[in-house]
Amino acid sequence: MSVLEYRRPEQLAEAIALVSADPGAAYLAGGTTQLDLLLKDGVVEYRTLVDIGRLPLRGTSVVDGVLRVGAVTTMEELAADAVVIERLPMVREALLSGASTQLRNMATIGGNLLQRTRCRYFRDRAVAACNKRAPGSGCAAVRGPARMHAILGAGENCIALHASDLCVALVALDAVVGIEGPDGQRSVPLTEFYVMPGERPDVENVLAHGEMITHVDVPLPAAGLRAQYVKVRDWASYEFALVSAAAALRIEGGAITEARLALGGVGTVPWRAWAAEDLLRGRQAYEANFRAAAEVALRDPYTVPGTEFKVGLAQRLIVRTLKYVSGAQA
Ligand code: FAD
Ligand code: SF4
Repeated sequence: MSVLEYRRPEQLAEAIALVSADPGAAYLAGGTTQLDLLLKDGVVEYRTLVDIGRLPLRGTSVVDGVLRVGAVTTMEELAADAVVIERLPMVREALLSGASTQLRNMATIGGNLLQRTRCRYFRDRAVAACNKRAPGSGCAAVRGPARMHAILGAGENCIALHASDLCVALVALDAVVGIEGPDGQRSVPLTEFYVMPGERPDVENVLAHGEMITHVDVPLPAAGLRAQYVKVRDWASYEFALVSAAAALRIEGGAITEARLALGGVGTVPWRAWAAEDLLRGRQAYEANFRAAAEVALRDPYTVPGTEFKVGLAQRLIVRTLKYVSGAQA
């Protein structure tokens, strides 16, 4: 039986130094993903867990029209934040649609961004073929059965879904990730933070070993942007998305002047539907245009038996959500 070392530093620099210096060390925040994978499923191996829960990275502040969210702020704390309630209702909807109250009281914002896939083959040590867990071993999911898997950004090497709800709302709003590591600080837009599987499904984001998410910056939209997060799932609560949409429109004189659309439940990364946004901008807020946007958003999916249904479901959800935020009947 291997021995696991647990450290709980009080200073950011100490935490970063501990993980950077040891390839067998990893950060521990709320533990709702990390402890499952390590202790229950046994699909990740670490010698040392560095608990970041006591670092001064908790809470929110507003500076120059941007909400800064500390990485160890919990999902429940952020959902109850006055600025989020008033200015970012779509973020609150996404937060409260995820997991359960108990989990959201433990789960942190940094951990939510970095939650691992729910692909059942990844989480089952008895399955040999998983390129994400064992690079070069193949992908059991593409030969199925598959259902809670991705259809965008996917390929024969991996169809693992990024299952976060929060990240879908955050990519739609152009959130930026604050990172600190042994070489200093940097900022990366959330739309550029994740890496699609390609030939290396084991590489999921741009973080180097030892780098920590310290905060997430969310620009506060100007008044008049109507936004909504809608999640479709098999059960009414405590379930991951089959498909979800974060949509926001600004409409002036009947024409769409600002369009934001991101999708969950379909992408290997939280999916920003750029082409659909381009199509909508400048057009009238009519259902025919919403249908055209939905068509473009789901162009060129990679499906396997068991995931084809997501194409039509996502398109219908996009139309419904855009109709709602445009003020038309959903
Ligand atoms: P941890 O488990 O502590 O860490 C997760 C990973 O992130 C680890 O690799 C850790 O090293 C790394 N990490 C954590 N913080 C940092 C940081 N600041 N910098 C660098 N690395 C860091 N999520 C949804 O969005 N929607 C759902 O419907 C949903 N349902 C769930 C249902 C269940 C039963 C469970 C167990 C989880 C569910 N989740 C859902 C996922 C949940 O939101 C995540 O597990 C949680 O947000 C992870 O946060 P954490 O603080 O517990 O992270
Ligand atoms: Fe592994 Fe990705 Fe295939 Fe799932 S989809 S079995 S995570 S390679």
